[in-house]
Amino acid sequence: MIERTLSIVKPDGVSRGLTGTVIGRLEGEGLKILAMKMIRMTKAQAKGFYKVHEGKPFFESVTDFMSSGPCVVMILEGEEGIRRYRNLMGATYYKEAEAGTIRRDFATDIEKNVVHGSDSVETAGYEINYFFNALEVAGG
Ligand code: GDP
Repeated sequence: MIERTLSIVKPDGVSRGLTGTVIGRLEGEGLKILAMKMIRMTKAQAKGFYKVHEGKPFFESVTDFMSSGPCVVMILEGEEGIRRYRNLMGATYYKEAEAGTIRRDFATDIEKNVVHGSDSVETAGYEINYFFNALEVAGG
């Protein structure tokens, strides 16, 4: 099934100059970029994005981190796009991520793990609408 997914190059990835590397990997995998922009979330916007994690011990910390600097957000599309992009990213904790994944190669911390990708069709729908309106989906 052709799926859309929301990708974010997180503040650590942008500040370390890894945006091009992430884009190169996802394009190399054959995922198509339908929309892309650089944003800087407020703390409140980061809380809205990660609202599924509200109440967890790391909620304050991860929303501070996500609002600490610019992110690059993208809508990606491809056959089994959600799973394929998650496979490129690797596990949340980089030490558990497979060799050759973005997180294994570049993450420095469980939180500073360079990239985000939606984990289901439902979350992808919420996350895409959180950042993009229909006019911005240039490639769609
Ligand atoms: P993901 O879908 O692989 O990004 O993982 P989750 O949805 O479970 O968590 C969202 C983000 O919160 C992760 O990518 C990390 O940046 C951060 N995170 C997850 N678990 C922890 C944790 O135990 N401690 C801290 N500090 N951050 C975490």
